[in-house]
Amino acid sequence: MRESVQQAKDLIIKAIKLSGDSFARSLDRKAPKKKVVPLLKNAKNILLDVIRTEPDNVEAIRYLAQVEDELCHFSSAIKYLEKYMELTKQHSKKDLARLYRLREHSKEARILPISQEKLEDLGRYIEQSLLSSPCDHTFRFTIAWAKRNGINVEQLCSALEERGGYCDCEVIFNVVRG
Ligand SMILES: [Zn+2]
Repeated sequence: MRESVQQAKDLIIKAIKLSGDSFARSLDRKAPKKKVVPLLKNAKNILLDVIRTEPDNVEAIRYLAQVEDELCHFSSAIKYLEKYMELTKQHSKKDLARLYRLREHSKEARILPISQEKLEDLGRYIEQSLLSSPCDHTFRFTIAWAKRNGINVEQLCSALEERGGYCDCEVIFNVVRG
């Protein structure tokens, strides 16, 4: 398990290096650079595997918080960072500041670029589409709907993710009905 965590850590470092200076955590950071997403997702999967067998592996939880932060999955990063602080009973100034920043990011990222009526329309569209073709764990119907309605796809999807909707069926369960 140690090697796995190390492997994940190396991937994160590589991703941060590849991202360059623009990766600085400013409040306007909305999405990671496309080229580093596969590295980060790979690191995330390795770490999720580790905590499946060792749920209290604090090192893995710590890195998961970082990966989710880099992926701009702020609410998820908050969850892991809080878990880490709870398990280690450590509340360093640095971590508290990080938690504060993540909460600010999350508040901003949760803002949907569409009205409640539009959200319900999206829900109906997805439900109708899923009847003939089950969810493939992507946003394909959400994206199709957004394009048809002239809505910024990236902005919409990141807000949906921040609300726990990482694919079409989760948009229904966690966002529209959530
Ligand atoms: Zn799904």
